Amino acid sequence: MDQEMTAFRGWIARDTTGATLDRLDPAMLDDLDTAVRVRYSSINYKDALALHGRPGVIRRHPLIAGIDLTGEVLASRHPRWRPGDLVTLNGAGLGEDLHGGLAGLAAVNGDDLVRVPSELGSLRAAAVGTAGFTAALSLLALERHGLAPETGPILVTGAGGGVGSIAVALLAAARYEVIAATGRPSELSGQLTALGAAQVVDRAELTSSGKPLGKQRWAGVVDAVGGPVLAGALAGLQHSGVATTCGLAGGAEYPGNVLPFILRGVSLLGIDSVRTPRLRRVAAWQRLAPLLDPALLDSVTRVVPLAAAKDAAASLLAGAGTGRIVVDVA
Ligand code: NDP
Repeated sequence: MDQEMTAFRGWIARDTTGATLDRLDPAMLDDLDTAVRVRYSSINYKDALALHGRPGVIRRHPLIAGIDLTGEVLASRHPRWRPGDLVTLNGAGLGEDLHGGLAGLAAVNGDDLVRVPSELGSLRAAAVGTAGFTAALSLLALERHGLAPETGPILVTGAGGGVGSIAVALLAAARYEVIAATGRPSELSGQLTALGAAQVVDRAELTSSGKPLGKQRWAGVVDAVGGPVLAGALAGLQHSGVATTCGLAGGAEYPGNVLPFILRGVSLLGIDSVRTPRLRRVAAWQRLAPLLDPALLDSVTRVVPLAAAKDAAASLLAGAGTGRIVVDVA
C-alpha cells in the first residue's frame, strides 16, 4: 500500500439495513489494478436505494456504496493510466458487486475508467455521472436506429430527474425537438424549458387513456420511468419510431401490448449503463462532453458534502429529486 492510502471515510453497507458513514481501512478495498483518490461521487436512483437499504443494488456485504466516482489516479498497474490522471467511472459493478465511489479512496479496474473530458472538468463530470452517461447512451442508441433531428420530436419521461434532465439538455443541444414529460409540470416547466424542452407535458396525459395506440406524436422516446408511462409513450410513437428504456422509477412492469410493434413497426431498445463495453463508454462521453452547456448543467446540479449523501438521496426515493446531486467527497 502506498503511503497516501491512509484511512478514509466512506458510506458502507454492512448489512441489508442501509449504509453508514464510517472510517475505513484501505486494506478492505478490492484487489484491482488502479487506485483512485475520489474527489466527487453523485447520487443516482440506485445510490438512493443502496444507501437506504432497499434491495436490488448491493449484492454483497459489507460493501462501500456509490455507482459513480470521479477523481485522480494515485497508482496503477494498468497501461493506460498514470498517477495524476483525472478519471471518471460509471457503473461497471461499482457499488453493486465492487466497492463503490461514495468514499475517499477506491480500487477499480483501469479498463472501465474514462478520462475526465477537458470541456467539463471533475465536478461537472461527476454531475453528468451515471444519469448523464445513460442519457448519452440513449441518444446514441436512438441515432444508431436511424433517428435524426429531422425525423421528428423526442419524448423524454421522468424529465425532472437525473437521467431525464440531462437527456432533455443533450437532445436539445443536438438539435432535436424535445417534449419533456413530468409529474410536476407546474413546478418544473420553467427549468425544463430552460434546459431546451420545446414543450412540457404532464405525465398523466400519457397514462390517461390506457390504450395501446394513440395519436402519433413523437419519433423517439427516452424513457427512465417504465410502467404505465412507458406504455403510454409507446402508444404515442409515430410509425417506425424508436424508444429506449433504462429505468423503473414508475414501475418494472410493462402494462402494454404488442400492437405498437406490429401495427406501427416501433422498436424498443434496452439500455444498460453498468456493463457497457469500453469503446461505447468512451463514445458516449465523447458525444456528451462538447454538447452539454456547462452553465445549464450547473443550473440543475446541487453539491452536498459526503456526510449529507444519505439525506440527499431520500428525495429520489420520494420521486421528488430534481436534476443531479454531486457528492463532494474531499
Ligand atoms: P431520479 O430519481 O433522479 O429521476 C426519476 C424521475 O422519474 C423522477 O424525477 C420523476 O420525474 C420520475 N418518477 C419518479 N417516481 C415516479 C413514478 N412513481 N411514476 C412516474 N414517474 C416517476 O432517478 P435517475 O434519473 O437517477 O434514474 C431514473 C431511473 O433510471 C431509475 O429507475 C434508475 O434506476 C434508472 N437508471 C438505469 C440505468 C441503466 O443503465 N439502465 C442507468 C441510470 C438510471 P418527474 O417528476 O419529472 O416525472
